Amino acid sequence: LPVVAVVGRPNVGKSTLVNRIIGRREAVVQDVPGVTRDRVSYDADWNGKRFVLVDTGGWAPDAKGMAAQIAEQAELAIASADAVLFVVDATVGTQDVDEAVVQILRRSGKPVVLAANKVDDQRSEAEAASMWNLGLGEPFPVSALHGRGSGDLLDAILDAIPDAPREVLETERGPRRIAIVGKPNVGKSSLLNKVSGQQRVVVDNVAGTTVDPVDELVEVDGTVYNFIDTAGIRRRVKEASGHEYYASLRTHGAIERAEVCVVVIDASEPVTEQDLRILTSVEEAGRGLVVAFNKWDLTDEERRRYLDREIERDLVQFGWASHVNISATTGRHVDRLGPAIQEALAGWETRISTGKLNAFLGRIVAAHPHPVRSGKQPRILFGTQAQAGPPTFVLFTSGQIDPGYVRFVERRLREEFGFVGTPVHVEVRARE
Ligand code: GDP
Repeated sequence: LPVVAVVGRPNVGKSTLVNRIIGRREAVVQDVPGVTRDRVSYDADWNGKRFVLVDTGGWAPDAKGMAAQIAEQAELAIASADAVLFVVDATVGTQDVDEAVVQILRRSGKPVVLAANKVDDQRSEAEAASMWNLGLGEPFPVSALHGRGSGDLLDAILDAIPDAPREVLETERGPRRIAIVGKPNVGKSSLLNKVSGQQRVVVDNVAGTTVDPVDELVEVDGTVYNFIDTAGIRRRVKEASGHEYYASLRTHGAIERAEVCVVVIDASEPVTEQDLRILTSVEEAGRGLVVAFNKWDLTDEERRRYLDREIERDLVQFGWASHVNISATTGRHVDRLGPAIQEALAGWETRISTGKLNAFLGRIVAAHPHPVRSGKQPRILFGTQAQAGPPTFVLFTSGQIDPGYVRFVERRLREEFGFVGTPVHVEVRARE
């Protein structure tokens, strides 16, 4: 049976929640920290599906310091579980110990369902929303005591159990995944040859790595990257019909699997629709972006001036990308590709603390309030970064916020925090 570990600080209501889920009063509950002495497992079922719940909490609050003990307990339980139910107390907000457990959860790569407990009435739901700041996705507001929200929570647990996608959390392990994409003949394979040079990496040397047969590990400036679908670049498929279609499927597949995409554009020719489509795909997929203008050796002064105009006219919306002007043939500035990839990765993974973010939001709201709409003043109440890779923000608002205002906030976010080389997503949750 699949195992779900229940993890959380003392007194957040783990045992009450377990009781609620198994529908029995079996776990001893008392309103005293540390009352559940051991790891106990219970059979549970929901909608005809059975699983095992493991309640953790066997600590003695002194010897090693509570945080260390809980972390250790949690680590054990998490390691042996298929999914984790992480319980936090919405009424007190997140604590340092919670953050420590989040680190462990991230490293574990296990699917996590976040329960914001003690949400006994509708009014406290806003408190649950603040748990987005843990970066574990949507918090499920529940009241273990009254049973509020437990149906939705159980649905989420079931969703997490059977081969749930673990990919997102696993990105922190193994070499970073980079895709070189671009229309035919822009110099992708030349560039790949140039950066890989003699430094083709022996796969066995890289720990914890399974490399897809179409991928290739390449060392750039001492960092090993997993270049995605280089087989598609090296062995060109030359069938007459359907070639473009398959090439574009392949491009999309590579973009989806990558963390950062290097979009190669031929600087010596006018920028085309196809270049723009590929850039747009990268942005929409939420991947880091490095734009490499290649064949720089073929550009003269006049072409470069014209390219600047093209960039201003057609590429402004990608102004946030990292970018390099290179020549795969002469090797010009190819050494800047590694730093550009690093820059995009760093931007892509940026996490802004909830405190900093809200200080910033407070400043914008004060200086540039949202226009009044039908006698009401829509307002941003609170914001949090729900995810990194790419940075994704959720703004909780009163009233409907204009899309134009959201774009304005997005621009300001970039001015304030940078985010070079990465798309930034801003979502709005409106409350009336
Ligand atoms: P791919 O289809 O994107 O992989 O493009 P290739 O790497 O096969 O390159 C297409 C053509 O452009 C080949 O003839 C290359 O020699 C040439 N090429 C690639 N990069 C450069 C460059 O930086 N400068 C010049 N002059 N030619 C290049």
